[in-house]
Amino acid sequence: MLGLMQDEPLLISAIIEFAARHHGNAEVVSRRVEGDIHRTNYRQIASRSRQVANALDAKKIAFGDRVATLAWNGYRHLELYFGVSGSGRVLHTLNPRLHPEQIAWIVNHADDKVLCFDMTFLPIIKAIATKVPGVQHFVAMCDANVLPSDTGITGLVSYEQWLNEQSDHYTWPVFDEKSASSMCYTSGTTGHPKAALYSHRSTILHAYAAALPDSLNISARDSILPVVPMFHVNAWGIPYSAAMTGAKIVFPGPAMDGKSVFELIESEKVNFAAGVPTVWQMMLGHVHAENLKFSTLKRTVIGGSACPPAMINAFNDVYGVEVLHAWGMTEMSPLGTVCTLKNHHDALPAQDKLKIRLKQGRSIFGVDMKIVDEHGEELPWDGKSFGDLMVKGPWIISNYYNSDAASPLIDGWFPTGDVATIDADGYMQITDRSKDVIKSGGEWISSIDVENIAVAHPAVAMAACIGIKHPKWDERPIVIVVTKPGVALTREELLAFYEGKIAKWQVPDDVVFVESIPLGGTGKMQKTKLREQLAGYVLPNL
Ligand code: AMP
Repeated sequence: MLGLMQDEPLLISAIIEFAARHHGNAEVVSRRVEGDIHRTNYRQIASRSRQVANALDAKKIAFGDRVATLAWNGYRHLELYFGVSGSGRVLHTLNPRLHPEQIAWIVNHADDKVLCFDMTFLPIIKAIATKVPGVQHFVAMCDANVLPSDTGITGLVSYEQWLNEQSDHYTWPVFDEKSASSMCYTSGTTGHPKAALYSHRSTILHAYAAALPDSLNISARDSILPVVPMFHVNAWGIPYSAAMTGAKIVFPGPAMDGKSVFELIESEKVNFAAGVPTVWQMMLGHVHAENLKFSTLKRTVIGGSACPPAMINAFNDVYGVEVLHAWGMTEMSPLGTVCTLKNHHDALPAQDKLKIRLKQGRSIFGVDMKIVDEHGEELPWDGKSFGDLMVKGPWIISNYYNSDAASPLIDGWFPTGDVATIDADGYMQITDRSKDVIKSGGEWISSIDVENIAVAHPAVAMAACIGIKHPKWDERPIVIVVTKPGVALTREELLAFYEGKIAKWQVPDDVVFVESIPLGGTGKMQKTKLREQLAGYVLPNL
């Protein structure tokens, strides 16, 4: 027997129409590429999203065609999020931090028909325009009067002119909620990047789950700053959850340095911010150096790579800001777990609470997870056994887009490539990417543990731990360190700092000081590059 409820498909157009109708005056504030602060609201965003949809109709862009963006976080990008997907096209967010050759490869692989870009990225567009023959329209996300006439790019139009020619009346199409809505290519450290293709249904279910109280806890009372880019996994779904709840949203544009981010938090009364650890490292550095305080910021979600304890402590103890440690991946839309405490943790001493906060957290409803050994057997949730982390759920990938390879699923579960423990309370902790795990004398050493201790040292700005081949032990860990400006640190001092914090055999064999550690397009340390840089390195005492 079927239920007798209305058969309304879950479509992204409904989110922006809901926001316009119920939270029409809620603000959307952007620091623009032009440098100024721009203010709009959900009513106007909805209206301009409809103009985007009409513009795509006028250009005869077909249902399901890909419309790419190469853009910072800002209101025009938000309008494209809703206008492109809502009208049945697929929003393809490109990562501008990739090499132009790689961007061109991705555009061709996705078969993008339209490419909308912020003026910052005009040089990239000039470099790739002739290499992406499938792109029929280039749209510069700016006013008509700032568009140079001599770009040499055929079919180039300004976004504002593109919209001005269109009515803001539009009837959003109704179609199967399983239709594709947006796509994002994984950062892929080896081989070509691969695309996750999200659907309307997966995006809406994810947006609901992300807004839950034990998740990101998003409501109409919030002023949210997503520093996490809209060009990578839809800014963790925040644009959708914010519009769904009517939260004010504040976009940083291209200015992601500590000073600019701090100023925006203060001037826009931001109470919730989201970003990767490297962004917060820059902001905390600025706040500390200038002896500043946050007057409105109450919580921040940190994910993308492991959040070091020193950062959780600094936010919590010094600035009174709660850190929500979260984990996910492109293939998961991206949210999988968020670390919020349960009632029975209240009585714990601060040190024990910190141990839990360091974990990547509990599953949100919709994400099932398990850890398995090398034979695929499930391991116990005892907080000690570690194995390959597998996930399943309605916003987790079943296969990559336009891929010849077989589905990556194993018995319906997606292997994340992460190695983790899960404790009896369901808190998951990542010990490593499986390829970064260090195997020493038959035991595993967590590179994340080794890095976390190093960055807790007051002289260390950034640390990466990698395994180096060893004739007897198979591999031994070393730690590569960037020190804070003007602070002296010796190898011996840092190695002594490990004493009593981890087992002796887990202490790195050596410290290598470097000027900088290579970061990838999404702010993660690139250990493959580090390994290449250290190709001739020899362990001490060999
Ligand atoms: P991406 O698909 O680029 O978002 O990268 C996903 C990968 O980032 C995951 O599989 C993890 O290896 C890593 N990651 C994400 N969040 C965390 C976290 N909180 N702690 C440790 N690693 C993380």
